[in-house]
Amino acid sequence: MAELLLGKEVNGALNKRISDDVLRLKERGIVPTLAILRVGENPGDLAYERGAKKRCEALGAECTVMSFDEKVSQEELLACIDRINRDDKIHGVLLLRPLPRHLDASVIENAVAAEKDVDCMTDLSISGVFSGRNIGYPPCTAQACIEILDHYGIDCTGKKAVVVGRSLVVGKPVSMMLLQKNATVTICHTRTKDLSSVTKEADILIVAAGRAGVIGAEHVREGQIVIDVGINTDENGKLCGDVKFSEAEKIAGYITPVPGGVGSVTTSVLVRHVVDAAMRK
Ligand code: NAP
Repeated sequence: MAELLLGKEVNGALNKRISDDVLRLKERGIVPTLAILRVGENPGDLAYERGAKKRCEALGAECTVMSFDEKVSQEELLACIDRINRDDKIHGVLLLRPLPRHLDASVIENAVAAEKDVDCMTDLSISGVFSGRNIGYPPCTAQACIEILDHYGIDCTGKKAVVVGRSLVVGKPVSMMLLQKNATVTICHTRTKDLSSVTKEADILIVAAGRAGVIGAEHVREGQIVIDVGINTDENGKLCGDVKFSEAEKIAGYITPVPGGVGSVTTSVLVRHVVDAAMRK
């Protein structure tokens, strides 16, 4: 049976450092504050928003939600981002994505001030992840995967890492971050041929496909480290990952559960970035 890589264990040390820093900031009269921008009522967005709000409150940070109707205009959203950029009391912005199709996501994402871009939405921050230069903050979810590996003392050097998914939010940045940690990285997507033979080669398998149960027993090999980024709901409305957990846990060496794995670390990383942004200011 695989050993569980638990978000709450990773968060233990992470959250202690965050709340200590929040206290220090508050002594100087600064309350680290996150603004969440949400368009529409997507259940996934609402769940992420609830988690982020709860974690902010638990760690002593503020969280303010600005929600818009699905039909919001580009101008209205840009005007709100402009107000946030100029508001000294807001240190970080989380734009829940994907945005509705009538909005130009690239224009909106790049309107966020670089110093408040706590989830790597702007091209400048993204360039930092790809160049390996210390520009901006990495995407919270990709960073959460790395935090889990680091917490459990998993050295990536020389290991074969396979990432399933090539989105700019998770797959591509986490691949670059693994490369930075000296892993040999392969990225898979819907056009990858014979996915199971590629995933079985991995020492570290990161799955961010957004499809419930896309990875099963046939994709996993003994001793492997499996990090499941997926957040989906099954036919009974229960939260589940991209990996068939009951099959993979019998084969892998280490595995993250869903819920209780990457997602819970992601919200702590988000608050970490907001606190860092407040400290840098
Ligand atoms: P996305 O933009 O939909 O990208 C999914 C990627 O997976 C695409 O590159 C797609 O390939 C690939 N893919 C889909 N089905 C596949 C298959 N059968 N075989 C191989 N590759 C496949 O999703 P995302 O934004 O990266 O999110 C991925 C998952 O992570 C979602 O479940 C999301 O809810 C979750 N998520 C979790 C957190 C967290 O904190 N835990 C945060 C953000 C997202 P193509 O490029 O060829 O289409």
